[in-house]
Amino acid sequence: MSHIMFFCIPAHGHFNPTVEVVKELVKRGHYVKYYLTSEFQQKIEDTQADFISIDDYMPPAPEDLDQKVGKDFASLIEMVADTTLSLESFISKEIKEFHPDCIVSDSLCFWGKLFAKKYQIPFICSTTSIAFNQYTARLMKQGFKEMFLMLKGMPRINKKIKLLNQHDYHIDNFVSIIQNDNETNTIVYTSRQFQPMVETFSDRYLFVGPSLNKCRFSSKKKDTPLIYISLGTVLNQNIPFYKQCIEALKDEDYDIVMSVGKDTDISQLEPIPSSFHIFPRVNQLEVLSNADVFLTHCGMNSVNESLYYGVPMVLFPQHSEENAVAICVENVEAGLRLKKPQSSHIKKAINDVIINKSYKKNAEKMSYDFQQYQADKMASDFIEKIIQESKKI
Ligand code: UDP
Repeated sequence: MSHIMFFCIPAHGHFNPTVEVVKELVKRGHYVKYYLTSEFQQKIEDTQADFISIDDYMPPAPEDLDQKVGKDFASLIEMVADTTLSLESFISKEIKEFHPDCIVSDSLCFWGKLFAKKYQIPFICSTTSIAFNQYTARLMKQGFKEMFLMLKGMPRINKKIKLLNQHDYHIDNFVSIIQNDNETNTIVYTSRQFQPMVETFSDRYLFVGPSLNKCRFSSKKKDTPLIYISLGTVLNQNIPFYKQCIEALKDEDYDIVMSVGKDTDISQLEPIPSSFHIFPRVNQLEVLSNADVFLTHCGMNSVNESLYYGVPMVLFPQHSEENAVAICVENVEAGLRLKKPQSSHIKKAINDVIINKSYKKNAEKMSYDFQQYQADKMASDFIEKIIQESKKI
């Protein structure tokens, strides 16, 4: 039995794919401790791993978080540095008591990587987006505002790196914190076919396919096509966009399920036509198992899940990383990009994806590809292999 520590940022998109892997590791007899905020406690405890709360150590989320997510890198590095230092004494005590054989940490949860490096524990990176390196990073096409914020934030980044170095983290520069280099053992939750420029990654990268709960949902008998609309769990407070969706589809012969997030005031969308079913949150896998088109913000999990169920997409990325994922969907021709978030464009894009059957066919091809993978087993084999290798050294 090995002792394994899991770290993740408090974001469903980053956390969800790890659930099946943790479940499998526990099933194999390993002792897993998962360090995250209490929002995730139930789901972690359902896997039989130990949930360890880090609520008391998380810096307060900035009020303008939606302006920063995916756009303001300097603020991200600041948050990471603050969280690392705030967790420092608690985690060092945990490490001394638990003696972990390895640390698995999300690709944006840099504190997991920093602890692994400082305490010389084998490290595995868990990447819930496509894998990024110097080549694939170009797909992100950072906008002027993102570049500007990055350059403007460099002095703040350097100050935080200096502080981390005073605490023995030995960081050369900020690239060494964020870089997913070819030497790092990395699990990527997509297929080799979907990953762009897959040949530029070393064999330290293991593409394990989408990691999701593969329970079967009964397919419902439908008279009309089902359109699913969601902007994910983070940047989802967008009343003007939801109103445009209602305007676009209110007279069409579709059933529409819209997931708008727990902080969106649904009453602001009234009057709601009877064909619309609007919820703060849905069981996305269940909805997708019956959907004909998914209008998505192109979060990696949403795209993975859509393709897994063979559902073609209308693509509406909200920031540069989601733009890179949208490009991957365009590459396999399983979706169409929304030109503008306006009702006429929304209506046209959805109708085009319904009428042109090639989108559906290509989504089904990807579904077949994804179903050849078993993310939970492949990722667990990989983690066990890294632990075994480290014991030989
Ligand atoms: N999700 C869900 N119900 C909803 C909306 C989202 O279960 O109503 C899940 C979805 O299945 C996916 C995750 O939340 O696993 C969203 O992750 P993604 O990477 O797509 O986007 P993010 O929320 O991180 O922007």
